[in-house]
Amino acid sequence: MNNFDFKNPTKIIFGKDTIKQLQTEIPENAKVLLLYGGGSIKKNGIYEQVKSALTAIEVIEFGGIPANPEYATLLEALKVIKNENITYLLAVGGGSVIDGTKFLSSAALFDGDTPWDILSKGIRTEKGMPFGTVLTLPATGSEMNSGAVITRAETKEKLGMGGPGLFPQFSILDPQVIKSIPKRQLANGITDAFTHVLEQYMTYPIGALLQDRFAESILQTLIEVAPKIIADPSDYKAASNFMWSCTMALNGLIQKGVPTDWAVHAIGHELTALFGIDHARTLAIIAPSHYQYNFETK
Ligand SMILES: [Zn+2]
Repeated sequence: MNNFDFKNPTKIIFGKDTIKQLQTEIPENAKVLLLYGGGSIKKNGIYEQVKSALTAIEVIEFGGIPANPEYATLLEALKVIKNENITYLLAVGGGSVIDGTKFLSSAALFDGDTPWDILSKGIRTEKGMPFGTVLTLPATGSEMNSGAVITRAETKEKLGMGGPGLFPQFSILDPQVIKSIPKRQLANGITDAFTHVLEQYMTYPIGALLQDRFAESILQTLIEVAPKIIADPSDYKAASNFMWSCTMALNGLIQKGVPTDWAVHAIGHELTALFGIDHARTLAIIAPSHYQYNFETK
């Protein structure tokens, strides 16, 4: 096994009816920017749950963060953060909203003139504006890690960023949100999480036996629950196992002490940047050929 450091400070609040715990997690004197995506949270009841948990706190909203969080949109949110003297960010959404929020957390405290430098120059974020998340779409694991991927349509770029300052302070995972997720997004989530494990597991043996068993247990759980989730997303037992598997697939634990690959993601990101294909679908396109081509070295 390779040497490693491991620290993950994100508090996970998992289970039924946990969104109301927002009121005890966000500091009372905070001025919050609530960030969300295309507005599905206003149709599935999550928005109301969030708002009623935050009645005692000053909240401004910024909706419309697209899938593959777009730099130009995020710069608009950054203006709101600066003009309104926001002190705390709350992402309510899936990986795109959470990644966009991580960019904003970093950009809000960034000294330079051009926040794109954080991505193009690979500047690590040691300290960001504090933020929490309410996860509405299990897939990316962003709710419990310190990485983000941001897209810039203007230059057709999709780049990663990260650093110890970008862990969410808390993430609320209520598996009941899964019942209102469209089938396409569920299939994407299952595929993304499964591929995250493969990128950290299908490398070469290094004697990290426990890491291999962790990885296999996540793959096995996803294989078991995937058909159940697609058939009936209100199946709480399947939904809760699916949600936790997605988080465990990319919260840093299984990558410790082992080599990782990420080639499927690197190629996939280019396909998304060029053609706008869903992230998980690019992985499904690339992974079979990648593993076939590299079969002997895996
Ligand atoms: Zn992914």
